[in-house]
Amino acid sequence: MVCVTDTGGRHCVPIVATDREACGVINGNGRDGSFDGRREKKSSRYSAFSLLRHGLFSSEWPRAWRNHDLRGSYDVVIIGGGVHGLATAYYLAENHGIRNVAVLDKGYLGGGGSGRNTAILRSNYLTPEGVRFYDRSLTLYQHLAADLNFNVMFSRRGHLTLAHNDASLRTMRWRAEVNKLQAIDSEVIDPGQISELVPHLNTAADTRYPILGALYHPPGGIIRHDAVVWGYARAADARGVQLHQKTEVTGIDVTRGRVTGVQTNRGPISAPVVVNCTAGWSSIISDMAGVRTPVQTFPLQAAVTEPVKPFLHAVVVSGTLHVYVSQTDRGELVFGASVDPFTSYSMRGSLDFVEGLATHVLELMPALSKMRLLRQWAGLCDMTPDYSPIMGTTPVEGFYLDVGWGTYGFKAGPVSGEAMAEAVATRSTPEIISAFGLDRFSAGELVGEKGAAAVGH
Ligand SMILES: Cc1cc2nc3c(=O)[nH]c(=O)nc-3n(C[C@H](O)[C@H](O)[C@H](O)COP(=O)(O)OP(=O)(O)OC[C@H]3O[C@@H](n4cnc5c(N)ncnc54)[C@H](O)[C@@H]3O)c2cc1C
Repeated sequence: MVCVTDTGGRHCVPIVATDREACGVINGNGRDGSFDGRREKKSSRYSAFSLLRHGLFSSEWPRAWRNHDLRGSYDVVIIGGGVHGLATAYYLAENHGIRNVAVLDKGYLGGGGSGRNTAILRSNYLTPEGVRFYDRSLTLYQHLAADLNFNVMFSRRGHLTLAHNDASLRTMRWRAEVNKLQAIDSEVIDPGQISELVPHLNTAADTRYPILGALYHPPGGIIRHDAVVWGYARAADARGVQLHQKTEVTGIDVTRGRVTGVQTNRGPISAPVVVNCTAGWSSIISDMAGVRTPVQTFPLQAAVTEPVKPFLHAVVVSGTLHVYVSQTDRGELVFGASVDPFTSYSMRGSLDFVEGLATHVLELMPALSKMRLLRQWAGLCDMTPDYSPIMGTTPVEGFYLDVGWGTYGFKAGPVSGEAMAEAVATRSTPEIISAFGLDRFSAGELVGEKGAAAVGH
């Protein structure tokens, strides 16, 4: 099921499509990713009027995006069909008129972290560079439904990071001050105020980890992650970008320090610009171009319960207990934690994780003891030493990085796409990402976000 919207984002109307159709997995591609060359219709505009027309005449909705035969060359090749790759493609076309762009994904669009995350959005980071950057993303998210003509279900419901000891309370105060200096709505509140916002939290003083206070960030919230991916994909397709699923990059061609193209399981493509947007696989792709990055890959797990009546109106995070929880519009509780304690490319859930999660959730909200978990899953996270991303140029001319997204990159999708598109189109580094360059590691100018990004995604 997909929700559609008018330009004001006010009317949400469900339309029927199977999940596989909606994500385009069966968009005419053969098993090997080839396409039979049929011309497909461009997606039409979603509106109350088009819904009425389709209802009255029982006509079929065109697919959200089209399939194409792979060309031998493009102006820009983007590796990775998650929110970062798709947003970069969309803004290249929309803001800079660069449309001869291919997004390549070895699986299906949104099959990486972008379809596996817990969809928390916020901008209350620790460094001024981080706060400015993530806040620009929240602003773009706020208007995204109208911009993409696709309801992304952004729900601003407030975000609470609990402090259970003096050290974390001190970090919360520090963050609140940095945030206020950047005009971000963020303040430290006491246990009484926390109880008013989240009555089900155990704020008693005699618990193992008593709650001493919290950083409260009203603009934070949650969004529908697959809608964001589909919205960007559909809008990029409508502007002429080609999206190629089941197209794996197996090598990157570099001649005399310049990128010249990529090798794929469907043949070679020549391109003067290649952008690496592969999150948990980014070091494999960077290695293909001979670019080394200080990245380690860890699995991150999450879980969801059966749906219950709405009772939790804020996102609640506890760094000390390594757990966070929010309630979706459908009523399920979504839980997450910090990354698994070992590097791996495995995306399997573990019993260990669920046991620890249940223990910590019940310490925070004992009333949830009767709730049943529906499912759990995992995704891959590329962690950098300072918990900030790596964005921009590399020593290989034409090869760009938008990686190192750790456990917090979904919220950064729009601003990253906007900035990477500008970097590619203007051949310069936009100010908003200038602190996140690869060279900061050799220059020793890290952007330390650990205090704001370790558990609270
Ligand atoms: C459980 C979990 C919870 C999270 N919660 C949050 C949260 O609440 N808030 C938040 O902001 N962030 C969160 N994150 C992090 C967030 O999901 C990621 O940082 C973000 O989705 C990265 O997006 P992306 O577009 O860069 O990469 P991805 O969405 O991972 O896309 C990368 C794509 O690259 C493709 N690819 C890889 N190798 C190749 C190749 N050789 N050729 C072609 N394609 C290739 C993959 O198939 C994949 O689709 C969470 C992550 C997980 C796993």
